[in-house]
Amino acid sequence: MNNLKRIQDAICAAGLDALLLIDPRNRYYAAGFPSSDGAVVVTRTRGYYITDSRYIEAAQAAVGDTVEVLLCDRENPMRARLKAILSDCGVEKLGAEDGSLTYDEYLAYERSFGMKLIPSQKLILGLRQCKQPEELVFLRAAQDITDRAFAEVLPLIRPGVTEQELAAELVYRMLRLGAEGTSFDPIVVTGKKSSMPHGVPGDVKIQAGDFVTMDFGCLKGGYCSDMTRTVAVGSATEEMRKVYDTVLEAQLAGIAAARAGVTGAEIDGAARDVITRAGYGEYFGHSFGHSLGLYIHESPNAAPNNHEPMPEHTVCSAEPGIYLPGRFGVRIEDVMHLTRAGAEVLTQSPKDLIVV
Ligand code: ZN
Ligand code: ZN
Repeated sequence: MNNLKRIQDAICAAGLDALLLIDPRNRYYAAGFPSSDGAVVVTRTRGYYITDSRYIEAAQAAVGDTVEVLLCDRENPMRARLKAILSDCGVEKLGAEDGSLTYDEYLAYERSFGMKLIPSQKLILGLRQCKQPEELVFLRAAQDITDRAFAEVLPLIRPGVTEQELAAELVYRMLRLGAEGTSFDPIVVTGKKSSMPHGVPGDVKIQAGDFVTMDFGCLKGGYCSDMTRTVAVGSATEEMRKVYDTVLEAQLAGIAAARAGVTGAEIDGAARDVITRAGYGEYFGHSFGHSLGLYIHESPNAAPNNHEPMPEHTVCSAEPGIYLPGRFGVRIEDVMHLTRAGAEVLTQSPKDLIVV
């Protein structure tokens, strides 16, 4: 993975001498190693990873020879190490993460280094929007685990099982299938609760005639997956089928409209039009999709207010929903990889209404 070089090119283009990365995922992106504590300095020609004795050995093994790993300890605290690197490299224009750092931390670095930092969150996030082939390998692997966990959990969905039990099964199976963890706490909601897009799983038991919505994902190689399926238990009324089919039609319309170069608003609009025409416009309150990668929610969004073209190789969710308060809800979510030619859907699980 040569993200270091990509960052260096971007630093040069932005007129910076170096970039300071503290956010663990940005450090992972830059140097291939995610310690809970540490700092990365990327200069125009070099990379430095500073961490403590807990991580030093693993960091040395992970970062390769393009990045120099330096130990910080009581005699050489992190800030002093950083200051020395900046002065050795003659750094005068230092970019920093104005979004990830707290205001307090930002000011403390400015005081320690005796210089004003240059807000550069956008620079690193902009690079992270375009997924590299090595990153896509992990995004696909995470999605594959999620698909397989769903297939394993489907036969367990029946009356009497609680939302929490199903959520636990999803997590357990994703871990068994090789996930490093979950990308967010799974959402499992049944019956009336399925009208809450981000409801929290509880001790509510599944009943015959319910819709069950499951929204879940895992981490593989540090990268997130995200998927939602809504299934019917025992049977579905005509109205439930109508709502389900509308959401599916909207999702397919959004996916058909999605490709690199079209705006987030156009993708969202293609799906929203289907739902509005079916008379459910007011019951689709959120946006069509969000990007994901090292974080479950990244920019850009496939949302009505995003009038920027989607970049090539963005990985973005496609998740319209209809939520009828106090009655039921449906959401269907896949993950797409956007190219100039169109959207490649990474999620493989079936989408026609499943009645278990
Ligand atoms: Zn989701
Ligand atoms: Zn999502």
